[in-house]
Amino acid sequence: MLIDNHGREINYMRLAVTDRCNLRCFYCMPEDGLNWLSRTELMSYEEMLRASTLLVKMGIEKIRITGGEPFVRKDIMKLLTNLSKLDGLKELSMTTNGVLTAPYVAEMKALGIRSVNLSLDTLDANRFFTITRRDEFTNVMHTLDELLKHDIEVKINAVVMDGKNIQDILPLVELTKNLRVSVRFIEEMPFNGDEHSCQGVKWDYVRILNEIEGYYPKIKKLVDPAYSTAYNYQIPGHKGTVGIIAAYSRTFCGTCNRIRITPQGTLKNCLYDDGVLNIKDLMRSGINDTELEQYLLKAFSHRAADGWEAERLRVEKTGVHESMATIGG
Ligand code: SAM
Repeated sequence: MLIDNHGREINYMRLAVTDRCNLRCFYCMPEDGLNWLSRTELMSYEEMLRASTLLVKMGIEKIRITGGEPFVRKDIMKLLTNLSKLDGLKELSMTTNGVLTAPYVAEMKALGIRSVNLSLDTLDANRFFTITRRDEFTNVMHTLDELLKHDIEVKINAVVMDGKNIQDILPLVELTKNLRVSVRFIEEMPFNGDEHSCQGVKWDYVRILNEIEGYYPKIKKLVDPAYSTAYNYQIPGHKGTVGIIAAYSRTFCGTCNRIRITPQGTLKNCLYDDGVLNIKDLMRSGINDTELEQYLLKAFSHRAADGWEAERLRVEKTGVHESMATIGG
C-alpha cells in the first residue's frame, strides 16, 4: 500500500497518453491548439506499460486513461489490452470526448472496462460547436448510446461556464430521469493553455447546487463513495444521479488518492502542481525498477497538503496557464 506524507493512501493513477485533441474546448486550449509534443517527447507505450506495471506493484489499483483525447493516439487499444492484463490492477477506465470512441466500445467492454467518463457540456448542437469549435455533437451522442447499450457505467462530465452553458444544467440533469448515467457538473478551472486566467470561479459548487435545487427541491444527497471528488445527489424517481465536483474550490484534497502522469512522463502529485519528477527521462537514463521505485517513493513523501498549497508553489515557479490537455484531465 502506498501512503503519502499526509497519511493518505495513493491507489489511483491518471495516465495521459497524448496532449493532442480533436476538439478545441475554449476552456481547455486555444483555437490553434498547443505546441504539440513531438513523438520522442511523448512516453512510448512500452514506457507507459513499464511505469504502470511498477506502480501497480507498488499499490496503484485503478488506472484511468486520459489525455488530450486518448483515441487520437494511434493503436490506443494495444495499450489498453496490455494494461488490462496487469496483475493487481482492479480497475481500468477512460476519460474521452466521445468523438472517435463509438467503434471501440465493444472491444473496451471485452477488455473489462466497466466505467467511462464522457465529456459533454451541452445537449444543444449549436452550443456544442461554440464551446468545442468542432461539429462533432452527433458522434459524441452516438458514443453515449453505445456505452449504455454495452452496459458500461457512464459519468458525463460537464464544465459549468458562466455565459456559455448555464441553460444546459437542467437539461443535463433531466438526462438522469430515464438514463442510468451520472451527470457531474465541474467547476471551471484556470487551465486553458493561454494567458487568460479566471479569478475565482463564478459558478462554484454551492451555486450549481442552488440552481438545480431551484427546479428540483426534492433532490436528495447520497452517501459519497470513498475518495469521491463529487458531491452526489439523486432526484427521487430518476434512474441516474447528479454529481458536483468542486474542482476549483478543492474541497476534496483531504482524501486525495490520485496521482497523474502527463504525456511527456511528468509525475504530478496534484492537478495544481508543476510536476515533481520526470519518469520518462529517468527510464531513458537507464535506471532499473528498484531505482525508479525509490524516486517514486521520495516524490510521494513530498505531496502538498492540498491543491491550494500545490498551486501556490507552482505560481511562484511558473504561473498557472497550462492546458488540461497537457496536464491530463
Ligand atoms: N479528451 C478527453 C475528454 O474530453 O474527456 C480527456 C481529457 S480532458 C482534458 C478531461 C476533462 O477535463 C474533460 O472532462 C474536460 O471537460 C475537463 N477540463 C478541461 N479543461 C478544464 C477546465 N479549465 N476546467 C474544468 N475542467 C476542464
